[in-house]
Amino acid sequence: MTQQGEEDDMVYEVHEIVVQKLGHVPILKGDFHYLPKHVQKFVAFYAQKCTPRAIYICDGSHEEAEEITHKLIERGTLTKLKKYENCYICRTDPADVARVEARTWIATDDKYETVPHVRQGVKGILGQWKETNEMKKEVDELFSGCMAGRTMYVIPFSMGPVGGPLSKIGVQLTDSNYVLLCMRIMTRVSHDIWSVLGNNEFVKCLHTMGCPRPVQRKVINHWPCNPEKIIITHFPNERLICSFGSGYGGNSLLGKKCFALRIASVIARDEGWLAEHMLIMGLTNTKTGKETFIAAAFPSACGKTNLAMIKPTIPGYEIRVVGKYFIETLFTYNKHMGITSWLGKRWKRDSPTPAAHPNSRFCAPASQCPIIHPKWEDAEGVPISAIIFGGRRPTGVPLVFETFSWDHGVMVGACVKSESTAAAEFKGKKIMHDPMAMRPFMGYNFGKYLQHWLDMDQPGRKLPKIFHVNWFRVDENGKFLWPGFGDNIRVLDWIIRRCEGDKSIAVESPIGYLPKKGSINLDGLGEINWDELFSLPKHYWEDDTRESRRFLEDQVGCDVPQIIWDHLKSQEQKIQAMK
Ligand code: GDP
Ligand code: MN
Repeated sequence: MTQQGEEDDMVYEVHEIVVQKLGHVPILKGDFHYLPKHVQKFVAFYAQKCTPRAIYICDGSHEEAEEITHKLIERGTLTKLKKYENCYICRTDPADVARVEARTWIATDDKYETVPHVRQGVKGILGQWKETNEMKKEVDELFSGCMAGRTMYVIPFSMGPVGGPLSKIGVQLTDSNYVLLCMRIMTRVSHDIWSVLGNNEFVKCLHTMGCPRPVQRKVINHWPCNPEKIIITHFPNERLICSFGSGYGGNSLLGKKCFALRIASVIARDEGWLAEHMLIMGLTNTKTGKETFIAAAFPSACGKTNLAMIKPTIPGYEIRVVGKYFIETLFTYNKHMGITSWLGKRWKRDSPTPAAHPNSRFCAPASQCPIIHPKWEDAEGVPISAIIFGGRRPTGVPLVFETFSWDHGVMVGACVKSESTAAAEFKGKKIMHDPMAMRPFMGYNFGKYLQHWLDMDQPGRKLPKIFHVNWFRVDENGKFLWPGFGDNIRVLDWIIRRCEGDKSIAVESPIGYLPKKGSINLDGLGEINWDELFSLPKHYWEDDTRESRRFLEDQVGCDVPQIIWDHLKSQEQKIQAMK
């Protein structure tokens, strides 16, 4: 019998004979018959492969969350924080605290659908490819029996408001009820999704902690996982994600990096839109009432969270955030008592190890964000006037510039880089490339992705203007030239005035339009060294442009669209002509 045939039989059997069982696996909750046929097939296929002891079809209800929370408290995975209402701490196995890029793959038949033509001898940094059948075989072996003794949760979720025209639906199968709780917070989990889905396409998400019972590995902190065998793999053409061995957010909440960025960038390619790693904020002019929406893409540690939560230091704008993940850990410290560290040990100010892991985070519903935009659940979305790229660039790069055109903006996005201290494998500081702030999240060949961006520019379309900002330029003593934080509103104000068509506030330079001297509101700031903040040192830009060219040649090669080379060439010539 073919595998396809077995799969079909299984679904058939359920219809004809069994009501609360799928094959011999009991269904603890939910009505299997109610699921659309193609979802039934998906569940049946992986139930057979992963051999859970039971199946639980989630409905996203309050009661369900309470039941699961209660179970996790009983087991010891969650501990209630007494000071707050409905707030819990969860300590992971200390070996499972990050995304694992080295174990992340995208599988297609054609290598160059997924990764660009990298220069020979150079290690590509824009995604890892594996051939589909090879990856399938690996997944097949790894996932066989991986849920033994555990419950398989079936989670229907919507990225975007349920039923909205821009929303996308996924179904995640997981053996982690912790993952279920987080998916409820970060996406919309609801019974209604089945009827909205009908016969339409959904993204298939499969996740396991990779710890079947009886467990082979010592479970630490009631957090089963299998760090040695982690894989996070994507089959974009099947809209399938398979993740093994980790409960960490970016590896296990498959709606996030895997679906909303990697798979969605492929869906966006196929359907003609952009799926990007950006925050969206709305700025309302308090005099005119006019609201402008801005999207920003910065590499990590460049101020996304601070920008989204900006407290303006000049009057004139009311700010609200439409979308952004909030990441941070909060601690209250009592001098006498100390606190409990992320490892569950007592911690005092003089302890030699850090209290919190730098990758700790909290997961809270967006609706609880104090400045969430009332339109954040609007099915129609919001119109974006400006896209802002940025980076942590201590020297050479001005506070803000506007790109000459959409194409030129795409070139600037492709060359985004940032000073990084985050990666443990790099000693000291290093300027790292993170094109479009999408480096770890590309779902297909980066050169083709650039072409897709360029293709957005079509007659009759009004595209956002593209800007680049740098809050981090320092003087010769290493002191920040710009106060940053709440004062960044002054830069956003200039950007908005440019979007409204004010031609009097910009001057042309080799890299783009710079603010005309005095055109950024500096009221009440004290001394700002404008000339240094906006200077373009010729040698710096010669080196920087050469380095960007080298990066594109090494990493993207013949996949770089010609117009990107043209803009780079033009920039080189203009810099050459500088005094
Ligand atoms: P994210 O990782 O991109 O969300 O960045 P965060 O908003 O968490 O900020 C990263 C680091 O940059 C933190 O240490 C912030 O204090 C710092 N930072 C954020 N915005 C600014 C700014 O405008 N100026 C300066 N000098 N530092 C900033
Ligand atoms: Mn952040």
